[in-house]
Amino acid sequence: MSQAEKLPTLKRHKLNFAFREKLNSVPEGFRHNYCYQCSACVADCPANNYSDSFNPRLILLKAILGFEDELIAPGSEIWNCTNCYTCSERCPQDVRPVDVIIALKNLCIREGKAPALVTTVSDSVLESGMTTKVTPLAEKRRSEYGLAAIKSSPVDDIKKILEDD
Ligand code: SF4
Ligand code: SF4
Repeated sequence: MSQAEKLPTLKRHKLNFAFREKLNSVPEGFRHNYCYQCSACVADCPANNYSDSFNPRLILLKAILGFEDELIAPGSEIWNCTNCYTCSERCPQDVRPVDVIIALKNLCIREGKAPALVTTVSDSVLESGMTTKVTPLAEKRRSEYGLAAIKSSPVDDIKKILEDD
C-alpha cells in the first residue's frame, strides 16, 4: 500500500551545475535531466518504505542541484537502492531513476568513493571474472559432492567490455 511521501529537508547548498555535466558523461546518467519532480517513483519504492532518508525523487533533485559530496561518497544513500526497477515502471518521464542511481554508483567507483564491500566485489570481478573468490576448500567440497570443477571466466573479455564503457 502506498503512503504519504516522507520529506527529508535539504541542507543549505551552493548550486553546482558542473556536476550535471559529470553525470552526463556516465552511461544513463543523462536521464536525470528529464526529471520534473512528480514523485511517482517514490510511493512503491521498497527502500523508501523502510528508510526515513532514502527517496529516489530526492536523489534526482540532489543530482540536478549538484549535491556531489552527498551523492558521491561511501556513505551515500544511493547504496540503499535495491535495484528492483519499480521506480522505472512508475516514472512518466522515462527517467528510469534506478539507472541514474546506477550511474551515480559508477561515478563513485570511478572516483574511488564506493563502500569497501562494493570495491572488493568489483576488484574480484576484474581479477577473476567472479564476484566471489573460489577457495581451494570450496573446490574440494565440490569434488566430494561430485560436482564439476568451476570453469574459469574469460577475464580478458570482461576487462575489454568494462573498458569499452
Ligand atoms: S524520476 Fe520520474 S517519477 Fe521520479 S520524480 Fe522524476 S519524473 Fe517523477
Ligand atoms: S530501484 Fe531503487 S529507487 Fe527504484 S524503486 Fe527500487 S529501491 Fe526504489
